[in-house]
Parts: sequence; structure tokens; C-alpha cells
Amino acid sequence: MYKYPNAKKIKAARSYSIPEVAEVLGCSARTVRNWAGMGLRVLSDHRPFLIVGDDLKTFLADQSKSKKVKLGPNELFCLSCKAPRQPMGMMADEVTQSATISRLVGLCEVCGGTCNRMISAHALPEFARIFDIASK
Ligand SMILES: [Zn+2]
Repeated sequence: MYKYPNAKKIKAARSYSIPEVAEVLGCSARTVRNWAGMGLRVLSDHRPFLIVGDDLKTFLADQSKSKKVKLGPNELFCLSCKAPRQPMGMMADEVTQSATISRLVGLCEVCGGTCNRMISAHALPEFARIFDIASK
């Protein structure tokens, strides 16, 4: 699965050439040039073209925000469809992740694949009104 580049590796006060950005983030130079087309500011007065670390951090943060999918109260996120889906029969298993976090797991009503949703443990009773939840 495509993992978004880790902006923490970028130093805000530094400027990077396009190949340097590609190397630090482990992506291709072409990807970095695509970001320029998507609004990432590139200082093109001199060669090599430079990207200010702070601009890059802001750009990546905005991108990852816009990728976040809003789920409706009755939806889980299908990993195969990469879309919000209702689970088959509105059934979900609750898998405890930690003292405060639980994961709801169901089967996608469209593709039959696994759908997930991370919820805070205290929201469980709320979700139990929507889904038929089995605790594991
Ligand atoms: Zn699906």
C-alpha cells in the first residue's frame, strides 16, 4: 500500500534540491516535480531549483489532511475499495487495541473485503446502537 512520505525527516530551516527531497523521503524526483504542479513552492530563480523545508512540510501536511476520509456514523473504511462502506448485516467485531482505542472490523457489503474503523473505547456504546458488535 502507498505510504505517504514522512515529513518529519524534512528540516524546516533547510532548502533542498529536488533530488535531495526525493532521497530524504524515499520517493522519485518525478513525484517531487508533480508536487510542484500541485502547489508546492519551488524557488526557480537559480539552479538547482530549491524547495524550502518549511514549505515542503506544510505541503505534505495539507496533502495528508485532504486524503483523510470522513466516515459517516454507520460506516467503516474498506481497505479494498478504499472507500467508506457499510459492513454486511451491519455486523462488526470489536478488537481492543489499547485501554482507550478499539477497532471495529466488518466485511464490506460491496466487495466482501475487510473494513475497519478506529474508535475511542468510550464511543463504543454509541457504535453499539448502530452496529451489531461482537467483542473479541
Ligand atoms: Zn469493499
